[in-house]
Amino acid sequence: MHKLTTCPYCGVGCGVDAELGEGVVAKVQGDKEHPSNYGRLCVKGSSLHEVLGTNGRLLSPLVDGQRVSWADALDRVAEELLCTIKEHGPDSVAFYLSGQLLTEDYYVANKLIKGFIGTANVDTNSRLCMSSAVAGYKRAFGSDTVPCCYDDLEQTDLLVLVGSNTAWNHPILFQRMQAAKRKNPDLKVVVVDPRRTATCDLADLHLAIKPGTDSELFSGLLSYISSEDLVNRAYVTQFTEGFNEAISAASEQFNSRAELAEYCGIDLATLEQFYQLFSATDKVISFYSQGVNQSSSGTDNSNAIINCHLATGRIGYPGAGPFSITGQPNAMGGREVGGLANQLAAHMDFSSAEAIDRVGRFWDAPNIAQANGLTAVNLFQAVEKGEIKAVWVMGTNPAVSLPNTNQVSRALEECPLVVVSDCMASTETIRYADICLPATGWSEKNGTVTNAERRISRQRGLLPPSGEAKHDWWIISEVAKRMGYAEAFDYQHPYQIFAEHAELSGFENDGKRDFDISLFSDITETAYDALKPVQWPVTNDAPYGTARMFADGRFYTPSGKARFIPVTANKPKQLPTPELPYVMNTGRLRDQWHTMAMTGRTSRLFSHRDEPFVELCQADAQKEGIVEGELVKLSHPQGEYIGRARITDDQRPGELFVPMHWNGEFSAKARMGVLLEPVTDPISGQPESKHGRVAIEALNPK
Ligand code: SF4
Repeated sequence: MHKLTTCPYCGVGCGVDAELGEGVVAKVQGDKEHPSNYGRLCVKGSSLHEVLGTNGRLLSPLVDGQRVSWADALDRVAEELLCTIKEHGPDSVAFYLSGQLLTEDYYVANKLIKGFIGTANVDTNSRLCMSSAVAGYKRAFGSDTVPCCYDDLEQTDLLVLVGSNTAWNHPILFQRMQAAKRKNPDLKVVVVDPRRTATCDLADLHLAIKPGTDSELFSGLLSYISSEDLVNRAYVTQFTEGFNEAISAASEQFNSRAELAEYCGIDLATLEQFYQLFSATDKVISFYSQGVNQSSSGTDNSNAIINCHLATGRIGYPGAGPFSITGQPNAMGGREVGGLANQLAAHMDFSSAEAIDRVGRFWDAPNIAQANGLTAVNLFQAVEKGEIKAVWVMGTNPAVSLPNTNQVSRALEECPLVVVSDCMASTETIRYADICLPATGWSEKNGTVTNAERRISRQRGLLPPSGEAKHDWWIISEVAKRMGYAEAFDYQHPYQIFAEHAELSGFENDGKRDFDISLFSDITETAYDALKPVQWPVTNDAPYGTARMFADGRFYTPSGKARFIPVTANKPKQLPTPELPYVMNTGRLRDQWHTMAMTGRTSRLFSHRDEPFVELCQADAQKEGIVEGELVKLSHPQGEYIGRARITDDQRPGELFVPMHWNGEFSAKARMGVLLEPVTDPISGQPESKHGRVAIEALNPK
């Protein structure tokens, strides 16, 4: 028997065709009909059947380490939350969610905390991955709308890959790019990345810029477009606003292009070659990811890129647009339901009293939150300060993944109530839990996810839940019922939640919002089970979904025009010092996922890289007396990291690269998060994870 589902790893959202055996997933292959991957799977996706099973799973509810019944565990969570709210108010409670949760899980969690508990202290690990891109889109378009689709990668004539090691982190999209380049020899690929990554194998031009100079590079491009008289005046006049202010801000940054090139750490000829290519090509896709977002000026980085597309009118038609790629399988679904502290629901936010009232009436919510809550880093700082007294972590591992993880661990240690719902039993975070709730894993879940091109796909249950595991939406709803909100959380099946979410997307909408899937408001269980992948918005005008947005030049700002955002030069916040002289870049490996809770369960995925490491260039290795393969220590006042030295020509002098995956279970001394300072983008709240500062030395100097 075969069942179609969706890969739980990256934001590409590949369709998976799972072959079921006797109580097991015998084999997986790519779903040939799924428009994201057309039958392809990368090494992570194709090993999904190897990481299942009950080994390492959390199988029963635990309170204070003791096994209890579900009823007792849920009663205890509800009781403790109610006591905390009564004593300290709604803002003393927080939820921390995950881009791995399904949209239905996210919807219910968001509804409970914002609508019924009455605080917006709900954030998600997606804050660490794409919140700067969200803020950039909202500033420019008035909405969090990805304008492009994957087909655009094949229809373009110039792919500008910025801060994205696509070959490792979105491998199926990289395969599509490779195929597109084979088919269209005129397609040019530019990679903007301080490191020479595997993605550069496809590049016609590699701009190995200094880390943290992305916005200056693109502001320079905007200035070039203007000074060379390459602006699409008709588009700018009819469909945009704020052009002059943005040009002034861009032009004031540097006295000359040579000065800019030096600032970015590249030669002038390379810089100009890129600018000429961009300006001379009508179909340009700027494809950007964590290298752009994980910066203390991540939102400005996004807008600097978007500004160049608006100035040339390169948006809204096949093969053109600024295309932010999400890292996680359901980062987009979380955004749809408002699963970030600065969102409300269905692409509405707290800036509009009318929207707050509308959502409150729709939910019949007695106590709807009125203002933004705390974002990830600030949220755990508030836990440490004792301002938040109850935190519920769902399906994520902040004790490994957030900056200054030792501080996060201390905060969790001190917090009076820590609830963790997770499918795995031994994450770093679960060690701090007073109450552990076993959640279903990927092969057991049933619901929807949305990928980076706005495509909603079904994740379908392949196997029965392990042990006593329950679905996240069920766990949250049962707690909500025990808190006195039985009517609002009376869900029996995820299709009911999806239908409610769809109805809210169109509730008093009048076509004023980008996110509208209200055609699904009355979806039945049968239709939900059979739902085929579809890109939102799904409206009467576009009942089969919408591939790309803004073809008509209409945006979701009050004026209907896209906004240029003036961007000024910004240096990273974690600048090197004499004591911490190296810039530390962090990122994913080809074969691992996040903190390895799943991918760490099969030896096959360790054959590519099997232990924590530090990449550095030959000159730095010589300077520090480090030889290939020896253990090195990275130090920072917050903590240490130990890994094996990999000496490479791919790394710029003065810069190091460390993988993000290893943690306590695999290597207690290789948590890169201990070295990152809790520095964030002031607009998006996204941590500056690509620009730490550290010292390096051989662990056992000869
Ligand atoms: Fe899964 Fe991403 Fe690989 Fe596709 S590219 S199979 S979604 S990890």
